[in-house]
Amino acid sequence: MAFEGLTQRLQNAFNGLRRKGKVSESDVRDAMREIRLALLEADVNFDVVKQFVKTVRKQAIGSEVLNSLTPAQQIIKIVNDELVKVMGDAAVPLNKSAHIPTIIMMVGLQGAGKTTTAGKLAKRLIAQEKARPLMIAADVYRPAAVDQLVTIGKQLEVPVFEMGTDHDPVDIVKAGLAEAAEHKNDYVIIDTAGRLEIDEQLMQELSRIKALAQPDEILLVVDAMTGQVATQVAEGFNQQLDLTGVVLTKLDGDTRGGAALSIRTVTGKPIKFVGQGEKLDQLDVFYPDRMANRILG
Ligand code: GDP
Repeated sequence: MAFEGLTQRLQNAFNGLRRKGKVSESDVRDAMREIRLALLEADVNFDVVKQFVKTVRKQAIGSEVLNSLTPAQQIIKIVNDELVKVMGDAAVPLNKSAHIPTIIMMVGLQGAGKTTTAGKLAKRLIAQEKARPLMIAADVYRPAAVDQLVTIGKQLEVPVFEMGTDHDPVDIVKAGLAEAAEHKNDYVIIDTAGRLEIDEQLMQELSRIKALAQPDEILLVVDAMTGQVATQVAEGFNQQLDLTGVVLTKLDGDTRGGAALSIRTVTGKPIKFVGQGEKLDQLDVFYPDRMANRILG
């Protein structure tokens, strides 16, 4: 289960405080030490942990808290509020263009769940807005990626524009956008190539696609299971492409929590959705407050 270790350790720290009738400053320091370790073990970014602990400790050792009737409760609330803040406070909706089509460009490393998430988004837009999306298969390095998107398209009855794997992806996107204009599709979702790691050639290709398509959304899909690495990947893609948002996948797995808690603060970009399974309806809006509840258990 996601966040299991983190939840357990945070609860241990809170139980330590709850057992005390009166909480002293040194009790708070002990608890914060435990919380710090819990976050680091959950693979949260070091700077995020440092700032988090500093902020919480400062509020928690205030006399209003320590002299109150329920100091432990209040400290738990401070931790909760700070978790919400670190994850971005409120849910951030998808950007929408003033004129059709709204163009969404999906980027990410291989295996992160990019193609699946493209399909999930299409399904969501159809369900919520009766949208008429078109998906463009611009991953020309993996023939299977084109087939995979075509299969998902068939399943959802969403048209997929593809030109096989023998063309420049920029040309494919250009032709796909022309097709969308002709059919008056209101959304275009571009599935781009991934790599095993960030490399210059991939970034250049993605930059060229961005320059041509001028997407309203550039969504980075990252695998939550990779923890700290997911945060680094997000930072790398953001520096090159100036992302508009992140989709965190595989939160149904036993992810430790690091990515969910670090990405917003490290990149300044919101996590907009979370993937919680392989099925095409398993995509949810990312609500920082609900995620904090889930983490606190
Ligand atoms: P891509 O290479 O980034 O396009 O990745 P794919 O879309 O092909 O996904 C890679 C694998 O991850 C596939 O087996 C997907 O079914 C799986 N996957 C994608 N999203 C999720 C998710 O939210 N949860 C789980 N458990 N699996 C996922």
